[in-house]
Amino acid sequence: MSNSVLVVGGAGYIGSHTCKALKAAGFLPVVVDNLSEGHEWAVKFGPLERGEAGDATFMTEVIRKHKPVGLIHFAANAYVGESVANPRKYIQNNVVAMHNLLSVCIDENLNNVIFSSSCATYGVPTQVPLDEEHTQLPISPYGDSKLIGEKMLHWYSNAHPLRYVALRYFNASGADADGEIGEVHDPETHLVPLVIQAALGIRPSISVFGTDYPTPDGTCQRDYIHVTDLGTAHVAALRYLIEGGASTRINLGSGKPISVKEVIDEAARVIGREVPVVYGPRREGDPPGLYANPLKAKEVLGWESKHSSLENILTTAYQWELRRKELGI
Ligand code: UDP
Repeated sequence: MSNSVLVVGGAGYIGSHTCKALKAAGFLPVVVDNLSEGHEWAVKFGPLERGEAGDATFMTEVIRKHKPVGLIHFAANAYVGESVANPRKYIQNNVVAMHNLLSVCIDENLNNVIFSSSCATYGVPTQVPLDEEHTQLPISPYGDSKLIGEKMLHWYSNAHPLRYVALRYFNASGADADGEIGEVHDPETHLVPLVIQAALGIRPSISVFGTDYPTPDGTCQRDYIHVTDLGTAHVAALRYLIEGGASTRINLGSGKPISVKEVIDEAARVIGREVPVVYGPRREGDPPGLYANPLKAKEVLGWESKHSSLENILTTAYQWELRRKELGI
């Protein structure tokens, strides 16, 4: 059996950490990326095939060349606000390109597929923690594009030999503990890197979006999951499919609700500096609390988060911010 795995979008944040985990587990991660948002420096654990995931001719050639045992599909646009302003981009890149990619998988008999889905597919939760049976009613084109991805997988796997695991990520954060890779987004919109950059004076301050939520300290609660844990979850999902596991959809979270204020306070403690904070209004579309029931991941994949304490997330994210400066990236 081949040990190659196609990692589409493997030059990005979660993709590159998954490549590291795949290599450590004895697989060869072959990255497919157009480098529009991914980074060539993040491709460190196997070869790069530069091209479009939605280009059927290119993808057919890549599959025939590497004969992978599975495919992990990360390549997508992932800015909620941008998706509202430019929904066509999200349908084109997250839906149309994914359909083309899945069609090639079906035609080439590449039947083990892992998909980066999102807790954004749930929309505004009616109850937390969220389990996989919670209704999926997205409130943005981004969330809808991920839900359509899940639905394509459902119907295509119903009609063809393809099997899949859709992994619904909560808030990916932190960085590789060895400092080899980490988060670099342009623009950066995520809380953890923004808080650290504010503490280091790279940004003037961090704006807290809303202090009047019905949570213990009035700020939103989220489920922060370390990107290294996300990497090992993909390896577990791949093994599950290789061993013949049935198609399924699984939350990847730590299961712990953490507030914006808690993130800021812990960052100040870890870095040993005050974080300049500006308290502002709520951001449109932010539910008060979003966190996972992570039990299914344990039962089906035997996976649990191990690196997702808030302290470890902030420590590794802080070290990565320093490393980035050294590397000039
Ligand atoms: N947040 C904030 N200020 C920022 C960015 C984010 O207060 O500059 C809050 C946001 O309202 C949410 C949490 O931090 O409650 C995490 O937001 P992020 O954009 O990192 O991830 P999301 O949960 O939206 O996927």
